[in-house]
Amino acid sequence: MMQNDPSANIVIPELPDEVKGIGEIALNLWWTWNPRGKNLFKLLNRYLWKESEQNPIKLLRSLSESQIRALSSNESFMREYRYVYALFNQYMQDKTLYSIEEPLPVVYFCAEYGLHHSVPIYSGGLGFLAGDILKESSDMGLPMVGIGFMYPQGYVRQVIGSDGWQNGANESIDKDTAPIERVLDENGEHLTIQVPFIDPPVYTAVWKINVGRVTLYLLDTDIEQNDPWDRQISSHLYAPDINQRLRHQIVLGIGGYRVLEELGIEYSILHLNEGHPAFALFERVRAFIENEGMTLDDAIERVKKSSVFTTHTPLQAATDVYSFDLMSHYFSGYWKRLGMEKEEFMRFGMNPDKPQAGFNMTVFGLNMCEYRNAVSKKHCDVTRKIWRNLFESEERAAEAIDYVTNGVHLSTWLGDELTDELDKTLGENWLNMQDVSDIWLRIDELDERKIWDLHYTYKVRMVNFIRERVRRKWSDEGIDPLVAMAEGVMLDPDVLTIGFARRMTAYKRPDLILHDLDRLEKIINNFSRPVQIVFAGKAHPADNPGKKILQRIFKTAQDPRFRGRIAFVEDYGENVAKYLVRGCDVWLNNPLIPMEACGTSGMKASINGTLHCSTLDGWWPEGFSGQNGWAFGGDVSSDDSDAAALYDTIEEKIVPLFYILDENNLPIGWIRMMKEAMKSVAPNFSARRMMKDYLSKFYLPISKRCLSWDD
Ligand SMILES: *Cc1c(COP(=O)(O)O)cnc(C)c1O
Repeated sequence: MMQNDPSANIVIPELPDEVKGIGEIALNLWWTWNPRGKNLFKLLNRYLWKESEQNPIKLLRSLSESQIRALSSNESFMREYRYVYALFNQYMQDKTLYSIEEPLPVVYFCAEYGLHHSVPIYSGGLGFLAGDILKESSDMGLPMVGIGFMYPQGYVRQVIGSDGWQNGANESIDKDTAPIERVLDENGEHLTIQVPFIDPPVYTAVWKINVGRVTLYLLDTDIEQNDPWDRQISSHLYAPDINQRLRHQIVLGIGGYRVLEELGIEYSILHLNEGHPAFALFERVRAFIENEGMTLDDAIERVKKSSVFTTHTPLQAATDVYSFDLMSHYFSGYWKRLGMEKEEFMRFGMNPDKPQAGFNMTVFGLNMCEYRNAVSKKHCDVTRKIWRNLFESEERAAEAIDYVTNGVHLSTWLGDELTDELDKTLGENWLNMQDVSDIWLRIDELDERKIWDLHYTYKVRMVNFIRERVRRKWSDEGIDPLVAMAEGVMLDPDVLTIGFARRMTAYKRPDLILHDLDRLEKIINNFSRPVQIVFAGKAHPADNPGKKILQRIFKTAQDPRFRGRIAFVEDYGENVAKYLVRGCDVWLNNPLIPMEACGTSGMKASINGTLHCSTLDGWWPEGFSGQNGWAFGGDVSSDDSDAAALYDTIEEKIVPLFYILDENNLPIGWIRMMKEAMKSVAPNFSARRMMKDYLSKFYLPISKRCLSWDD
């Protein structure tokens, strides 16, 4: 009954006709952002749903034949199934476009996508942004296709030793149980493409993921046709070896472009998210010359006028640069084919501030795309400054670089029960008007007790989730009691909880709040108004300073003087993030200014009523209203004064607001601030608002230009 034929593109059991649609729903991530979709799988088998870690393919594969046969006679299940399947079909066929005009088709390239934990092809914020963009494009009915990469062993599961040192454990994707499908060629074989310019040749297989109405194609070099070194191109998200990193980016950009050609996917707009996939731009020039007979100059002009480049870095040093020698090794045949000289080719990636450094992928993207954006207003100012020399003048740089502040996909990040409440309060169609500030004013009508109870439910759920993990570790491995304490076994849902969950890296200053331990101890152990802190986050495997910060936090959490009120939750990912952004009371963010280009976890927190407390970096200068959270610290970061400002904010503003109750035993001031946060952040930092910005600033103007060329 199981289809084990490797060329079959789906490996789920055959389902009886009455419930065939379950397979379709399982193979479309639509279910991940629809509460009724999630619920359907839970109803199917609660225990296996949990065991499979919410992976419907795994769940279906572990059902016995008799369990599958029994489904159609389970009336309550069948009723829910019919409802959800109808909802799904309606969504897939909906022709309404939630925008003013329809743009021409867009291809979106990114090295990583954060969609769901059953598809571990992400490392952090960049990936979640890309994932949210695909989901929102699907919701809005925008014509978009995504290109990305499979990392079969690329996901690092974080395991922390009892000494607090992070030991990565690489985890393999089980390609047969991830919700991914093989793309087949006309002979029914797994489609593979040869990536040009690499000698000996590299091949990449093609997979796809259905993200609602958007298809994401993934490249995979871990296949038999490749020699071991090439197979490893897809083994790391960001390879430390520079040569391997370049090869990865050649496969992503150029291989990705070839996949589009092979599949006959027509599109007009090329959107590159960060520099990693930028070689797709050259490949587009080549295609215009070879397929449409354009001259080199015309082809370059066309590419420039129809491509969007989004940059996420606030520092020149954080961009990818390849030496001219290494570039020549791979591209010497390529520039000839384009009819270019070496110098001309290299000039596209030459940073005028460091002309000898090599070929810079961000410079290349900025030079080759006329539509360029930073990811927040503040980041835009920084971007215009650091790349000032790419343009004739300061004014020209300001005209050339715009911004689209990131947003988050509301249906993905809002808690389900809160979504239910919003359905009742904001009106049925609120999701389709989510970026309209006025409808959010109705939040004022939400009952205070209701909000507070809901928030408390999320908090208890988070604490239980953290404790359950420690319980498992305790019973499986017999860990030291101090480790159990550091991992959160003593957390208390009644205590004011500050969350800090993000990458453990120096510029985010994860240990800023530990700056003065004596002062912190007084805050945490205040007898009648205690505070607890939940940390989570991975350090990049090659980032030793980041691992040291993590270790310091972990050791502090083991220190009995903090009485189990500091916890470090292992293995931060999409699942942990969902518990934390809903369950904490305060979401802390204290990067070194101006290092945080945008940041999105604070948006996820705010829409759930978890209050953001942040230095004025990234999105917060746009988001902070004075009533929807807290801002602290100076325009120029200093650990001493920022830490002092943070302690002051906690002691003087946060703690009293949380613990002062009204006659109904409610922290009414706090709840008002929660409402303010939801009201102000949800419409303005929703993925809907973000995609409308991309439409009006880039996709629609480009579409108009393209149409005038075709006349
Ligand atoms: C949202 C998110 C991020 C990005 O958060 P920042 O605020 O940009 O640091 C990283 N990891 C996970 C799991 C997320 O959900």
